[in-house]
Amino acid sequence: MNIIECPHCYTRVAARSDDSCPACQQNTIETSGADRSKTQTSVPVQSALPPVCCQCGVSTHRYVEVSATVAGNAPSPLARFVTFLLMVSIVGFFLFEKESRGFQRRRDRLRVRMPQCDVCAQNGPPVLEYVDSENYRMTFVVDRAFKDAIVSVA
Ligand SMILES: [Zn+2]
Ligand SMILES: [Zn+2]
Repeated sequence: MNIIECPHCYTRVAARSDDSCPACQQNTIETSGADRSKTQTSVPVQSALPPVCCQCGVSTHRYVEVSATVAGNAPSPLARFVTFLLMVSIVGFFLFEKESRGFQRRRDRLRVRMPQCDVCAQNGPPVLEYVDSENYRMTFVVDRAFKDAIVSVA
């Protein structure tokens, strides 16, 4: 199976046998009308990103915070509280510090500061496509120049 980036919705997909995209139903071979200056990329949360607008590629020093609450398989606050109580009563104080650090890592609010120029800001903040809560990465559709700038920094 061939994984490609759909030229229309920038999702990484396995195209159907008729070359249509399972995410947006458009033809992945037909690229007319597609904006090839855009691509999808994921950035590690709380990383320092290059001063390049993520949406048009111009140099900018304006940053906008994008945050997400991790949903889905994350345990509910009540479940986590009960687990916490159990942990504390079972393992006792000698492990408490270690555990509390573990709980901090499981915080469910992820944020990243995305560079965005004033012009693009008029169309609203960068749209978060996808959150990878396992690897602490957030995925956006971005300008290729921004992606290139990240790669050159890394
Ligand atoms: Zn698509
Ligand atoms: Zn811009």
